[in-house]
Amino acid sequence: MNGKENLRQGHFRASGVVLRRCDTAEGERLLYLGLKGLGPLWVVAPGAARGKGRFGGATEPLVWAVFTLYKASRNLYLKEVDVRYDFWALRSRSESLARAAQWGRLVADCLLMGHPDDALLGFFFWALQGLEKGADGAVAEWRFLWRWLHDRGVAPDLDRCGRCGTPLDGAFWGDEHLLCPACRGSSGSPLLTGPLLQVLRAAVMLSRDSFIPWSMTVREGADWPAFNERLRSLLRESL
Ligand SMILES: [Zn+2]
Repeated sequence: MNGKENLRQGHFRASGVVLRRCDTAEGERLLYLGLKGLGPLWVVAPGAARGKGRFGGATEPLVWAVFTLYKASRNLYLKEVDVRYDFWALRSRSESLARAAQWGRLVADCLLMGHPDDALLGFFFWALQGLEKGADGAVAEWRFLWRWLHDRGVAPDLDRCGRCGTPLDGAFWGDEHLLCPACRGSSGSPLLTGPLLQVLRAAVMLSRDSFIPWSMTVREGADWPAFNERLRSLLRESL
C-alpha cells in the first residue's frame, strides 16, 4: 500500500517535514514528506530541480512546512510550501547538520506508507530544535531515540530491572533491557552505576528548556554513542 490511494482528487493541505529529496533526469524533483495525519508520501515538485526553482529552499530536507498538495489521477503534486521552520541556524554547523540528516534518514526508513506517526514527528521536531539551540548532539540523540522507543512500548525501563522488576541502582545491559546485578547472567557489558542511571533518566525526563543547558554538562562521563547504538538496534528490531 503506498498511502495515496486513499486521498481524494483535488487540493489539500498538510503539515510536516521534507525527509528526502530526489531529482530526476527530466528536471523533476521528488520529495518524500512525513505528514501529520497522513504518514509519509512521495510528491512531485514540478520544476523545482531546475535553477532556482519555484520553491527556492523550501524543498530542502528538514524543512518543516504546511504543504499545499494536488492529487491528480496518478501522482501527488506540490503546489505551495508555507515554511514554518527551516532550521537555518542548525544548517550552518556541519556536525549538527550531519546528525540531523542522520536522524532524518532514520525517521524516513521507519515511517510506513499509510501509517501516520504524529508522535514521532513531534519527537523529531523537538530533537532538531534542541540541537539547533545548542543541546549536546549525542545526549539529545539518546533523549530522542528513547522517547521514540517509549512511544512504541519498547524503550528499556530505566527504573526497574527488565527481568525481575527490582528497582535499579546500578544495571547491566541485557539484549533488550537493563538488568539488575542478580539477573545479569552471562552479560559481560559494563556496570551502569546508580549516578549514571540518574543521568540517563534525567535526559529523557527533563523539560525541553532545562534539557538544553543540562545536556552540555553531562556530555563527558557517559559513552553516549554506545548507548545510542543500543537504542538504534532496539528500534531496528521493533520494525
Ligand atoms: Zn533483575
